[in-house]
Amino acid sequence: MKMLEIMDLHVHYGGIHALKGISMKVEDGQIISLIGANGAGKSTTLRTICGLKEASRGSIKYNGRELTKLDTSEIVRMGITMVPEGRRVFSNLTVYENLLAGAYLRKDKEQIKKDIEYVFDLFPRLRERTNQRAGTLSGGEQQMLAIGRALMSRPKLLLFDEPSLGLAPVIVKEVFQMIKKIHSEGVTIFLVEQNAYEALKLADYAYVLETGRIVLEGTGKELLEDERVRKAYLGG
Ligand code: ATP
Repeated sequence: MKMLEIMDLHVHYGGIHALKGISMKVEDGQIISLIGANGAGKSTTLRTICGLKEASRGSIKYNGRELTKLDTSEIVRMGITMVPEGRRVFSNLTVYENLLAGAYLRKDKEQIKKDIEYVFDLFPRLRERTNQRAGTLSGGEQQMLAIGRALMSRPKLLLFDEPSLGLAPVIVKEVFQMIKKIHSEGVTIFLVEQNAYEALKLADYAYVLETGRIVLEGTGKELLEDERVRKAYLGG
């Protein structure tokens, strides 16, 4: 079933035309990857889905409902959450407080506690650091916390903005394994990455964005084998 459908989406920053009419589909239960170089418009795509950036034209439908005029909090309530680029955890809050912050739209206290336990089961290292300030965690731990915090809103569709950025290779592996695990528990994934190889390996379907336009799309496998993708994004 179609979960998210982006149609002819245009976005501007003043005079900059950042998205020039992109169209994409996400089916329920898939992992979709969006790859592209710096400045191609990947973050803008995610920010527009979440209601953090306004569309100048086009539509984004989630389970048939138009998102482009809704507030971020309404969009989160509907089941869409983003793990932002650069982690952006609250440095001065503890691990526990960061997780609680991710549940800010929920009132079911008992269930929230259970969900924190669930996140701690996924990321045992976070449990060990429950009362530690997030700013003192390593980059990898902060990424785990950012993911855990996003899970606290119980998303049906989770958007990742460059989760591997700035992390050591072994941690990058862990992060991608975690994305797979979360997906296997029923969450649909929309992954934005510059690490094209990992992103395509994981993807059921993928899109290539260049200066605001989708220039190529196909299954992850098709794109991994595509000559143009190999040359431009996989180092030949
Ligand atoms: P990156 O990997 O660097 O985040 P990206 O593919 O996510 O790249 P975007 O950040 O979406 O690209 O940027 C797309 C275009 O929009 C670029 O030309 C960028 O300079 C411009 N842009 C992004 N944010 C702003 C902003 N707040 N103000 C003005 N221009 C912006």
